[in-house]
Amino acid sequence: MLSEMGDDAKLLAGGQSLIPLMKLRLANPNHLIDLNFVPDAAYIKEDGGSLRFGALTRHAAIEKSSVAAGIPMIHDCAVGIADVQIRNRGTIGGSLAEADPSGDWAAVLLTQKTEVNCLSPRGERTVPLADFISDAYTTVLERDELVREVVVKSPEKGSGGAYLAFKRSAPVYPTASAAVHLAMQGDFCKDAAIVLGCVGLVPVKAIGAEMELRGKKIDDNVVNAAMEAVRAAVDPQSDMRGSAEYKRTLAAGLVKRAIALAIRRAHGERVEVSHIYA
Ligand SMILES: Cc1cc2nc3c(=O)[nH]c(=O)nc-3n(C[C@H](O)[C@H](O)[C@H](O)COP(=O)(O)OP(=O)(O)OC[C@H]3O[C@@H](n4cnc5c(N)ncnc54)[C@H](O)[C@@H]3O)c2cc1C
Repeated sequence: MLSEMGDDAKLLAGGQSLIPLMKLRLANPNHLIDLNFVPDAAYIKEDGGSLRFGALTRHAAIEKSSVAAGIPMIHDCAVGIADVQIRNRGTIGGSLAEADPSGDWAAVLLTQKTEVNCLSPRGERTVPLADFISDAYTTVLERDELVREVVVKSPEKGSGGAYLAFKRSAPVYPTASAAVHLAMQGDFCKDAAIVLGCVGLVPVKAIGAEMELRGKKIDDNVVNAAMEAVRAAVDPQSDMRGSAEYKRTLAAGLVKRAIALAIRRAHGERVEVSHIYA
């Protein structure tokens, strides 16, 4: 249907980004293709060391899934997205396809080995998530292509991660967010992945901060150096959520907290994490 209708048509998943845009007349499609009629498009499966999410899987289903909680930062993310109504409708596939710079999923999933399975009349192709989002609100999806499935490889034993977002209230996007995943051996960090949300046009991979942690015993000096690297890596806009400088400081603070939580989880502790509200 997408190939037949061309630019006049839009896919509808949870409608939690598309419908507000249509109400504001920022999107004005002549046709909506409702994915909700596609059978078996919503599922969460563990399969050969990976978690597989059907594109139409709702945030709320992920929040409640014990399978998805096998990667605790996925649960951290799902539980904090907006409010219960939005979590009941919004989907993981729609969120990634929307590529909203303030969206939560991309920041979390970019710390993991994540692939997006895309489907078009030409068949299926697999795109690493790192290559999927090309700019703000822009992905590599072709005009007649959709997200079919999101596949996240289960992280190695002895690793742990946490996702923290700072919000003014539940039904708004975060002011800044941080996803941190660490592979630990005792106090030593073998590997680190840090991705920041809402502080750039796309999620920001904080490569400098990762380097400050990798191969080191984690102490206050190392964490402070990582925080400085975060401040240098981000490029936030001043807006109604706060000034650029405020967001820079916030991102560094969130990373500090997320590092501490990730270490505890890597050491096997069960830690509840939820978004932080102003
Ligand atoms: C008040 C409010 C607060 C919100 N707060 C947050 C928040 O804090 N964090 C957060 O992450 N999100 C937030 N959201 C967004 C929410 O998570 C949306 O669900 C999500 O961004 C889009 O998913 P959807 O399923 O609703 O997609 P839709 O709105 O149906 O679609 C979004 C776009 O993606 C396309 N699309 C949908 N599915 C596919 C697919 N399978 N393949 C290809 N293209 C597809 C559509 O054509 C459309 O262009 C908020 C939304 C609202 C209204």
